[in-house]
Amino acid sequence: MAYIAIAVCFGLAGGVVGRIKGSSFCLWFLISAIVPVFGLLAAIAYRFERDEPRRQCPKCGRITPAHDALCMRCGEELDFPEHLLPPESAAPGAPTHAG
Ligand SMILES: [Zn+2]
Repeated sequence: MAYIAIAVCFGLAGGVVGRIKGSSFCLWFLISAIVPVFGLLAAIAYRFERDEPRRQCPKCGRITPAHDALCMRCGEELDFPEHLLPPESAAPGAPTHAG
């Protein structure tokens, strides 16, 4: 029973956090209730991901977070970016290139 109470508490917290960040309350409620601690952390981290400045790998063109030192696709070492792309959250619907 205690577990259910904890799961519901985390579910509510995760759902509220998710909702504040413009995502689905139900989705984050479920995630946080199923995996209480990690779900809530994921809901909190979700926005930081989207608010990160980004840049494009000069070799393969993949969009990576600006703080990454290595491209996760091709392994290219990335210097400090000359120009940053706006965070994903600031540019909804911007075309992303995957290839
Ligand atoms: Zn790359």
